Amino acid sequence: NGSTKPPPTPSPLRNAKFFQANMRILVTGGAGFIGSHLVDRLMENEKNEVIVADNYFTGSKDNLKKWIGHPRFELIRHDVTEPLLVEVDQIYHLACPASPIFYKYNPVKTIKTNVIGTLNMLGLAKRVGARILLTSTSEVYGDPLVHPQNESYWGNVNPIGVRSCYDEGKRVAETLMFDYHRQHGIEIRIARIFNTYGPRMNIDDGRVVSNFIAQALRGESLTVQSPGTQTRSFCYVSDMVDGLIRLMEGENTGPINIGNPGEFTMLELAETVKELINPSVEIIMVENTPDDPRQRKPDITKAKELLGWEPKIKLRDGLPLMEDDFRTRLGVPKK
Ligand code: NAD
Ligand code: UDP
Ligand code: UDP
Repeated sequence: NGSTKPPPTPSPLRNAKFFQANMRILVTGGAGFIGSHLVDRLMENEKNEVIVADNYFTGSKDNLKKWIGHPRFELIRHDVTEPLLVEVDQIYHLACPASPIFYKYNPVKTIKTNVIGTLNMLGLAKRVGARILLTSTSEVYGDPLVHPQNESYWGNVNPIGVRSCYDEGKRVAETLMFDYHRQHGIEIRIARIFNTYGPRMNIDDGRVVSNFIAQALRGESLTVQSPGTQTRSFCYVSDMVDGLIRLMEGENTGPINIGNPGEFTMLELAETVKELINPSVEIIMVENTPDDPRQRKPDITKAKELLGWEPKIKLRDGLPLMEDDFRTRLGVPKK
């Protein structure tokens, strides 16, 4: 019979905790290709507030246009080589140009972004007690001497080559992550991302999948860089985002390879694009760039065991999804 217990008086602290039930997440590089897909996925969860920090070097506001003005979303023009003061629970640190054309354009800036940018994000994580995930790269394995590459392989990297600003930069970024973890107890996660493709890739950023699709749609020859027998493994972006979120939410620091183990030569890729998109284009052989890794395929045993993750989208199914986006952006209607 009507027990009239008074409601507990909410302490200011409890109240604050209640209102903090939301997770505030910083995504550096969130205006880029992978970052914007990650933001889309994070924003689907109504408990998440997302802050993007990006200097728009290779990314664009256009990739985030559906979120601009949303009450749970904030976009900051910011260069991660400068300190950043925000209060967040998690940091997905993606900021860094990923395509060779862009990272070689200003190599000093690239290495600053990897080293000083990662240092700043770790300083931020330390100050606010946030968990931080770094998107490292399969390039830390360099031109690998073991195949497929697993996480315990230390790599075969040229420290003074034209790619070093990127691959050595990421290696230092990984070192910084572990030093902050060991010395300051920061919660870290490291993903080693293998080649990823999908809608919103920069059309002219020179990466192989975007090049071939744009060339096929424009009716130009597909440029296979010699010898054409070099291999890559391509992961569709929705699978990648799923892997990154699982890594962040899980209990393992990594490094963990995230990529699709389906391995193709560049000639095979060209033939597949030709068959699926435009059978009338030619495939031509052109000169390659220095230090091009000859083969690359992730060993994803760790991702399977520790994250329960494996990619779902096969190359043949992912390419047409990307084709639709490229058609729209290039203004090439479907026949
Ligand atoms: P992207 O170039 O589309 O995105 C990078 C974003 O970072 C862009 O929006 C860019 O403007 C921003 N950025 C660059 N320098 C910055 C700086 N100094 N301050 C603030 N913002 C900056 O590339 P992506 O493919 O989306 O790659 C995202 C991350 O994943 C990168 O860290 C990249 O190294 C890593 N990665 C990508 C691939 C891939 O195949 N796409 C493979 C391995 C690793
Ligand atoms: N930093 C930042 N945001 C913060 C805290 C730190 O950008 O909220 C930067 C800071 O400017 C410094 C870097 O992170 O350059 C490393 O910070 P840390 O506290 O680890 O080192 P220190 O400031 O002692 O050099
Ligand atoms: N490549 C190619 N044609 C192109 C662009 C790239 O054959 O138009 C080749 C390149 O030589 C490399 C592979 O595709 O062997 C992947 O290159 P990309 O720049 O896409 O990525 P990364 O080298 O970083 O894996």
